[in-house]
This record gives sequence, C-alpha cells and structure tokens, in this order.
Amino acid sequence: MGTPEWLSDNRGTAALAAMLAATSSHSLEALAAESRAMTLRRFGRTMTLYAPLYLSNHCSSGCAYCGFASDRKTPRHRLEPDEIRRELAAMKKLGISDILLLTGERTAAADFDYLQRSVAIAAEEMQRVSVEAFPMSVSEYRSLADCGCTGITIYQETYNQERYEALHRWGPKKDFIDRLETPARALEGGIKTVGLGILLGLSDPVEDALNLYRHVRHLGRTWWRAGISVSFPRMRPQTGGYEPPFPVDNQLLARIIVAFRIALPDTELVLSTRESATFRDGMAGLGITRMSVESKTTVGGYSESKEGEACEEKEKGQFEISDDRTAKEFCAALRRQNIEPIFKNWEPTYNGPSSIINPENEISTILHNNY
Ligand code: SF4
Repeated sequence: MGTPEWLSDNRGTAALAAMLAATSSHSLEALAAESRAMTLRRFGRTMTLYAPLYLSNHCSSGCAYCGFASDRKTPRHRLEPDEIRRELAAMKKLGISDILLLTGERTAAADFDYLQRSVAIAAEEMQRVSVEAFPMSVSEYRSLADCGCTGITIYQETYNQERYEALHRWGPKKDFIDRLETPARALEGGIKTVGLGILLGLSDPVEDALNLYRHVRHLGRTWWRAGISVSFPRMRPQTGGYEPPFPVDNQLLARIIVAFRIALPDTELVLSTRESATFRDGMAGLGITRMSVESKTTVGGYSESKEGEACEEKEKGQFEISDDRTAKEFCAALRRQNIEPIFKNWEPTYNGPSSIINPENEISTILHNNY
C-alpha cells in the first residue's frame, strides 16, 4: 500500500508553514499573544491532568531512540492484576483519575488479552482510561472500547518515511503505513479520542509538524465527532544513548505549540513531564491544555517509589523525565497562574455506546433527511 493522498494535501498548510519558518515574519511574542487569547476563549483557565502507568516493558521492536528496545539490557517484566491494582491505588492517592496505560510492542508476555484485562481493571478504578501500546485491528479496538478504554495515543514519531525506516530497525513498528493508518482504525473501532504526535529530534521538525497537521486535518474531516489531541515530545536521555540529529530548542518548540493552537483552535495540545518545570509553567495557558503529572516511566513506579524503593536503580525507565514535581506542587504552580487543574472532566456513564457511527453513513442520512 502506498503513501496516502492526504499526506500531500496542502490545504491550510501555507499559513502554518509561514508561522513555523526559520525566517518567519511572525514574531514569537505576537503568535504567543494570539495563541493565549484563543486558548482562553476555547478552553478557559483549565488544565486537564493525567498520568502514565507503564504496564510492561517487554518489547519486540528495535526503535533506535527508546530505552525499551529489545536489544537494551534492562530487566523486563509486566504488572500482574494485583500489582496493577496497587499502582492504581497509589495513583488515586495522588488525586489522579485519568490514566494512560503503556506497553511496548506486542509480545507473548504482553499481548492483546493482557492489555484488555488490564484496561478492564483500570476502568473499575479510574474515570478515564487511555492506552498507548501497539497498533491493533478494528475488532481489537472495539473490544478495548467495550472494556472501558476511551482513548489511544499513537505517535507517528516522524512522517519522513526514509528516516522512519532507518530509525525503526526491526519489529512490527517498522511498518510506516500501518502505523499511519492506526488512529483511523481505532476510531472505526469505537475509540473516542486519538492522540497523535511527533518525536522532536528525529527528523526535520518543521516538515514533521506540517505532516502532523495534515494527519489531524484528515482525521478531523473523516471522523468529525472524534476528539483529537496532539503532542510534541522532545527526545530525552534514555538507555541506549541515542543522540537526536535534529535537536529542537525551547524557542522552536514554543513556536510549534502556539502555531498549532492558532491553526487548530479546538485541538487539545499536550505537554508531558519530559519538559522542564519552567518550560511547562510557561506553556500552561499559552496553548497547552493537557499535561501529565508526577509521571513514572518504570513498570511499577508508583507503588514502589511510595514504599521508598529506588526502582530506577534496578530498572531504567523508557526515558528520563525532567519535571519531577509532585502532583500537589504542580497544581499549586498552575493555581498561581490562575489556571484550574482538572483531574476529572466526565463521568464514565456519559461515555455512551462504544461504536461510532460510520461518518459517511451519518452524513448521507443527514442529507437524505433534508435537515
Ligand atoms: S518506542 Fe515502543 S515499540 Fe519502540 S522500542 Fe520503545 S516500547 Fe518498543
């Protein structure tokens, strides 16, 4: 299967490209002011908060930039149901009720059945459960949705196919087109929100940002009822010591964030604890509307750290975090900026049926009913 047509759809890209260009006539200050006003109008003074929960660090892929790649020398394990419950209890004590469950690429140790069981356990305890794992089929996504999963995160990492194939040295993640099509399969399976992203540092950041924008627009046109969020993670130190060939500085990352807010006013923009406390505080209210908090990137990191064990001594996380403030400290910092942290923004009972109506059928019904 070839590259999809939407990757060369230039509608709306000229304005974004003009904001991102190295010689842009738009000053960062002017863009930031416009982005701040738009964020306030569309999202108010709020920040939704979530935390990642690493279920397993088993992985069959060989992504050059990742501490969980199958050639890294790190102890591998997965959380069993009672351990997951312990982690969830530790997270709930921090006030967290919106979580992102993570695994590596599909393996015998952490396969679809394992993930599905883990989602069901998490959905009993948490208000919102999303998954960042391996690409799945439509029917697998439908089963996950039926167990209480409302969102998936699946970053393309880079939209430059040549770079992508060089960086993904082996394993299922090497399939560039399959990954591109995964968010659409998830939405077809009834998942309500998809998180897209590029891993900044791997390839030309402006080219990747423009293709990420094309992807968001394509999904938004096809699945217009879906929630789409966008992340801009930057490479962080990790086991394996991969050095990013296209480092992105604070100025450019800030420009990308505010330009996306202006180009996609209603899209949730996410910033994780990969970024420093200072940068996160600066971007809160300026375009970012969702942030992770008190993240642990090791398997079992919440309950182990609570018991005072230095689990990082035994096992390396997927990458190093930068903002290590507690949830309490982070919320206090948001409130000092007059931004209200939101731990819970809906009741699971409002989730509705998991199957989204095929958008083409729905539009055709609307047309035939002459609304
Ligand atoms: S990025 Fe994901 S698929 Fe790639 S090595 Fe890391 S855990 Fe595995």
